[in-house]
Amino acid sequence: MENPTGPYMLQSGRYKGRYLEDLIFNDPEYVLIMNKYRDETKKENAIQRHLHLLMENIPKTEMVCPICKKRSVKYFLFLNSEDILPTLTCCESAACRESLKLDHPGDYLLPIKFQSMMIFNQKRLRKGCLKLIRKATGLNKKVGPEEVFRIFIGEPLKVV
Ligand SMILES: [Zn+2]
Repeated sequence: MENPTGPYMLQSGRYKGRYLEDLIFNDPEYVLIMNKYRDETKKENAIQRHLHLLMENIPKTEMVCPICKKRSVKYFLFLNSEDILPTLTCCESAACRESLKLDHPGDYLLPIKFQSMMIFNQKRLRKGCLKLIRKATGLNKKVGPEEVFRIFIGEPLKVV
């Protein structure tokens, strides 16, 4: 399956004619349900491939690591049943990751990507995670599907 070259328009269902890249911010719960039924053991069709990349890719981030103040953030701290805080984030460097974890024993780091929303069983926390992704990537409320595609899928990104 080749990698997609632009946003994916849904062909059926409630959101027929809308882009997947629009839905992730406007109705994330719908996309998460679609993602729940994505079967990685089978050969992917176009929408599954697209969904896979959208959820798993690490997006380009703009927010600077609060620890080293050099690189951009790639991880956030998962605090059990508490809030998701933009201050508790760090870049990919081992030193910054260790430093963030030291202050919060028992908690662990999650990559800043859509797939991380799947970890939370409370809607409030999934919303918090999405808010953090929006903040980290610098996307405002009126972002279009092309822009979402460019940041999450369009560029050669590594999957963590
Ligand atoms: Zn850092």
